[in-house]
Amino acid sequence: EREALKVLKTAKSVTVDGHEVELAGNIGTPKDVEGVLNNGGEGVGLYRTEFLYMNSDHFPTEDEQFEAYKEVLEGMNGKKVVVRTLDIGGDKKLPYFTFPEEMNPFLGYRAIRLCLDRTDIFRTQLRALIRASVYGKLCIMFPMIATINEFRQAKAIFLEEKENLIKEGVKVADNIEVGMMVEIPASAILADNFAKEADFFSIGTNDLVQYSMAADRMSEKVSYLYQPLNPSLLRLIKLTIDGAHSNGRWAGMCGEMAGDPYAVPVLLGLGLDEFSMSATSILPARKIVNSLSKKEMEELAAKALTLDTAEEVTELVKAALNK
Ligand code: PEP
Ligand code: MG
Repeated sequence: EREALKVLKTAKSVTVDGHEVELAGNIGTPKDVEGVLNNGGEGVGLYRTEFLYMNSDHFPTEDEQFEAYKEVLEGMNGKKVVVRTLDIGGDKKLPYFTFPEEMNPFLGYRAIRLCLDRTDIFRTQLRALIRASVYGKLCIMFPMIATINEFRQAKAIFLEEKENLIKEGVKVADNIEVGMMVEIPASAILADNFAKEADFFSIGTNDLVQYSMAADRMSEKVSYLYQPLNPSLLRLIKLTIDGAHSNGRWAGMCGEMAGDPYAVPVLLGLGLDEFSMSATSILPARKIVNSLSKKEMEELAAKALTLDTAEEVTELVKAALNK
């Protein structure tokens, strides 16, 4: 089985009717790049930079960060690397930073909210990223964007730091894409507006499901509400992808759902361009993509959107995969 998958390492992620998508890997540290490449990853769709901060006893300096980002970009050898800016808070804390006491940390001071408040931390990371941009194909994305104003503020800070570095005589790439994660229902619903300003979307279903279902992703008791295939979620995903495409942007997904064998056919049908997952899921996903027809999956997705429950969607997909 593993051996049979190996031949797919250099194969294209293309459907039987010629529709090509990108299968990428999620990483937490530069060391993970090897695993993505060994599993035929066509890029990095999510670099969770918070580990750089969590595995340190101080806020990592600009130079420390630069080295890590450069290593990942060089390691991927020109393939696309999507780096997520600091996503701390919620369940992820730092020993050297005091978070406010909050009733609901997952609904509180975290990710881009913290970065737009502590712009000193944010600017350091952006400078490190922009400096590293000449070593590969860099895409930067902001986590937990809820409003257009948050995206504008974050992008403006990025542009300021880019300008500053250019003035300092530092070489920077001129093709850095600046996008955002879609993991809050508000931004999925308004995706067509966001797409006028964001270069791309990456759908974070781990959080998008949590916030859509109002079900804490850490709570065992309500884990039955983790239903990425619920038609309500599929509709939010459709809004996001359509919003991107109607503005000439691409849409990816980096939540667990992207590598779920029952989700891949539906996501293909909805038009998802990039699927980012743990490295070991890439080859099995490619095998599925290679076996399906985009046109048939479009019909499957259209049907799925009309169903009532996640179970019904799962049954629909199972029937299609068995054909
Ligand atoms: C997500 O929310 O789906 C995601 C990819 O981010 P994280 O799991 O790191 O919150
Ligand atoms: Mg998330």
